[in-house]
Amino acid sequence: MIPQEFDYSAPTSLKEALQLIADGERKVMAGGRLAAPGHVVDIARVPDLNHITESGGVVHIGATATHHDLESSPVIRGRCPLLAEAASHIGDTQVRNMGTIGGSIAHADPAADYPASLLALEARIRLVSAKSDRTVAASEFFLDPFTTAVEPGEMVLEVLVNNEEPSEGYRYEKVAHPASGFAVVGIAARIKKTGGKISLARIGMTGMAPRAFRAVAAEKLLESGAGIEKAAAAVADGQDANSDLYASAGYRRHLARVWAARAMTVALSRAS
Ligand SMILES: Cc1cc2nc3c(=O)[nH]c(=O)nc-3n(C[C@H](O)[C@H](O)[C@H](O)COP(=O)(O)OP(=O)(O)OC[C@H]3O[C@@H](n4cnc5c(N)ncnc54)[C@H](O)[C@@H]3O)c2cc1C
Repeated sequence: MIPQEFDYSAPTSLKEALQLIADGERKVMAGGRLAAPGHVVDIARVPDLNHITESGGVVHIGATATHHDLESSPVIRGRCPLLAEAASHIGDTQVRNMGTIGGSIAHADPAADYPASLLALEARIRLVSAKSDRTVAASEFFLDPFTTAVEPGEMVLEVLVNNEEPSEGYRYEKVAHPASGFAVVGIAARIKKTGGKISLARIGMTGMAPRAFRAVAAEKLLESGAGIEKAAAAVADGQDANSDLYASAGYRRHLARVWAARAMTVALSRAS
């Protein structure tokens, strides 16, 4: 591989980083696994941008927290274990040690693992620029393949996730591409039971369509007591399934049904 030439800045404060990207021309680099722009602003040295903390029932995950940080964090494992499970499925050890949650979601690969869990967890993403600070729902963040709600001059500051209730069951299942590890199909299931019945179901899907989505029809079927088989058969309803050399649209739909049923079954068995 011939490395591409680029200008490089390594700010040591968030303020400096935001001033550098304010013109919308320079690109933020986090772990540097995928970016290749003309001028990068390396945020890896900005202090405290990799925080993982919990306050008032909300987990705050800094943009430069690595996938390994997430899979091994006692806060994530204790408060939003679905996300820890998803992080543990990403790539290999090297990718998990270098890749960051901010870089992953800003890149918005339609086969990335986090989006399914962030949708199932109804997470929010905090975006900052030199002049603004706003929070968008995960459902409004992933817009199209490699396209997000991040505006020029903005960067992801942190991801906010409400604590999963201890009684909720969860599961992330993934059919991994054998070469890259990315999700051919990935399913994040979150299920709550009340009085022995499913009272809440949240199903996030990735890899299946041009962007990650919530399988709302399947959620409603679970919540209405229709059962896992019927709900799993509906996970790709209304979606334009991806098709590529590895998996046709029809095969993806088949994988989605089978693996969604597995994810739902485990999530339900973990719900108390
Ligand atoms: C071999 C390989 C295998 C992989 N397998 C998987 C897999 O199985 N599942 C999976 O989900 N992912 C996988 N990935 C992706 C990986 O997990 C990283 O998340 C991804 O490479 C980007 O991470 P990064 O933090 O290094 O970001 P960078 O490469 O530094 O940046 C990626 C993009 O995001 C932008 N960016 C970075 N940080 C921010 C921020 N805070 N705010 C705004 N924009 C930002 C950059 O400008 C760039 O456009 C794989 C990657 C590789 C190289």
